[in-house]
Amino acid sequence: MAQPIIFVAHCILNTAAKVVLYREEEMAAEEALRRRFVGTALERGVQLVQLPCPEFTLYGARRWGHVSDQFDNPFFRDHCRRLLAPVLLQMREYLAHPQRFTLLGVVGIDGSPSCGVDYTSRGDWYGSFGGRTDLAEALASCHLAGAQGIFMDQLGRMLEEAGLAEQVPVVGLFAPEPDKCMALLSNL
Ligand code: SF4
Repeated sequence: MAQPIIFVAHCILNTAAKVVLYREEEMAAEEALRRRFVGTALERGVQLVQLPCPEFTLYGARRWGHVSDQFDNPFFRDHCRRLLAPVLLQMREYLAHPQRFTLLGVVGIDGSPSCGVDYTSRGDWYGSFGGRTDLAEALASCHLAGAQGIFMDQLGRMLEEAGLAEQVPVVGLFAPEPDKCMALLSNL
């Protein structure tokens, strides 16, 4: 029987890479779904391949939270593209041996400015914190938008370029919509 494989956003297996949160209760529902997804995947014999974290590998552990508008620039996209190039090669190799492997898809993190699939954080953020009088307004402009994060957007472009988009579904792990990621495991 072919081994099922899912590529997952880095922090689905390693939450240490996430941006520091000061209200951990905000993440309780996502954490519960993460554990349910990973536990079910392992119980059902799914191999989980960890994608690189584009933010940790660029800004490290002391980074601020960002919005996708800040990452939507050629430099961040180039960083994503370089991280994803070897990932595409891995996908291509697994897909080349369907008798041994079944690539079920990719799971991102909805809401992330990088790894969001159906939802990402957006806002008109830029500039220094010091000396400004509209900081509270600027922070409040952050909102959940129906769009992809930049890393997942770049992944989608590269899958298209490689002719693999039809074979590799990309879904988001999102606590209010748990069926999206759990559906990848439903036929196992
Ligand atoms: S950038 Fe992606 S992998 Fe990294 S912490 Fe954010 S959601 Fe997780």
